[in-house]
Amino acid sequence: MDHLLETRNRVVETGRKMLSTNLTVGTWGNISCRVPGTDYIAITPSGMSYDLLVPEDIVVLEMEGEIVSGTRKPSVEVPLHLAIYAARADIQAIVHTHSAYATAMAVARKEIPGSVEDLVQIVGGNVRVNEYALPGTMQLGINTVKAMEGRNAVLLANHGMLGAGRNLEEAFRVCQVVEKSAQVTLLAQLMGGVVELSQEDIHGMRSYYLQGYGQDQDNGQDG
Ligand code: 13P
Ligand code: ZN
Repeated sequence: MDHLLETRNRVVETGRKMLSTNLTVGTWGNISCRVPGTDYIAITPSGMSYDLLVPEDIVVLEMEGEIVSGTRKPSVEVPLHLAIYAARADIQAIVHTHSAYATAMAVARKEIPGSVEDLVQIVGGNVRVNEYALPGTMQLGINTVKAMEGRNAVLLANHGMLGAGRNLEEAFRVCQVVEKSAQVTLLAQLMGGVVELSQEDIHGMRSYYLQGYGQDQDNGQDG
């Protein structure tokens, strides 16, 4: 299978997983991935049901936003996704969700502290809240890149969250871990407070995750 078709298939598959695991409801959220061996980005179409998507619905763009393949209108968040890819060569895939607990933190404008081990391993530390900007704007991209510095996830103020990774599997897993960590943070606060991990332990666990966690050559994938 060529890279383009394989990437489109994986984006469709990730959309179905996002819906079936309740990381979003309705048609909100969006997913994108760099197409290996090209400078192109494959992204979900705007406002379409994830359970009905077929590979041809996935829109392929140049880094300037010009459509190179596909007939659908791309996600309104193209400027957000492109701003992140332009700023972060380490990121190959992005999953943006409106999951409930992460959105609750984003509405309260409270960061998720670096206090859960799986979170700091996969995200690199605390999950900051970006400065508010309207959806679909270049400003949202600028504010998000800033709040994501040195991290693989960010809370989008009054909106939702975004996870990134070395492939779609990892970006999706980031969203799952952030959502769980948002829930854990709220529960811990109800029980009297959160105990944060030290920066030294966070750095140690992040290095271990990147270099040694999982099977050899795993690179964030399942098998
Ligand atoms: P799209 O359906 O256009 O991707 O928009 C959904 C969304 O989450 C906007 O932030
Ligand atoms: Zn959104």
